[in-house]
Amino acid sequence: MALLSRQLLKTFATMAVDKPVAKALEDVTSRVRLASAKVNRTPPRLVAVSKTKPAEAIQEAYDVGHRVFGENYVQEMLEKAPVLPSDIKWHFIGHLQSNKVKSIIEAVPNLAMVETVDSTKLAHKLNKAVEGSGRPPLSVMVQVNTSGEESKYGVGPSEVVSLARHVFTQCPHLKLAGLMTIGMPDYTSRPENFECLAKCREDVSQDLGLPVDQIELSMGMSGDFEQAIEMGSTNIRVGSTIFGARNYHDK
Ligand SMILES: *Cc1c(COP(=O)(O)O)cnc(C)c1O
Repeated sequence: MALLSRQLLKTFATMAVDKPVAKALEDVTSRVRLASAKVNRTPPRLVAVSKTKPAEAIQEAYDVGHRVFGENYVQEMLEKAPVLPSDIKWHFIGHLQSNKVKSIIEAVPNLAMVETVDSTKLAHKLNKAVEGSGRPPLSVMVQVNTSGEESKYGVGPSEVVSLARHVFTQCPHLKLAGLMTIGMPDYTSRPENFECLAKCREDVSQDLGLPVDQIELSMGMSGDFEQAIEMGSTNIRVGSTIFGARNYHDK
């Protein structure tokens, strides 16, 4: 017994040096479990946000069993997805321009979710591209600007219901998975952001006659995922705490 745990400790110590991503992922996973247990919730899906990081870093997380990764530049996803295992579930979490929709749908068959739908135009484009590709329906989230501040991306809380209804009723090749928020324009979050997203979910649930537990909440990043879990997040997006600081400041 004592021998075994000393061996395990040694393994972890080695991992911290040789496998920083695997070690950090292990740490985040246990923090997620703890935070979830504290409020008696099922642990949320952990999207490991790999933007700006090389395929090798993603492979390291994959090798210890992680499968869900998030990117927010189309170009990066187009470069990494084909050289990594095809059972990865990619989440697109950046601003998606309509003219990039077709390429991402066609080049990344294992794209599992687009978390950043913020217009009926984008929803329509995605729906058409998915239909044309013949792939199964694509899960999407409506991105909500919960900060009340001027931002190019995300719909305001008062527009969420109509966009969610559009996806739900007019886009047969999309599956409305839930709602997503970044928080403040500087990528930090306040409790108000999380409360606002939860309130939007209630509105959508009522309007579409869907149980709230069928509408996900994507909220919480490196700095605040534990708080987001306490407030009901089902999908957290964690980048720098897993992969290390990014080399350039990006959105
Ligand atoms: C970069 C990014 C994240 C991860 O941010 P970290 O603070 O590094 O965890 C999450 N969500 C979105 C939309 C991002 O662009």
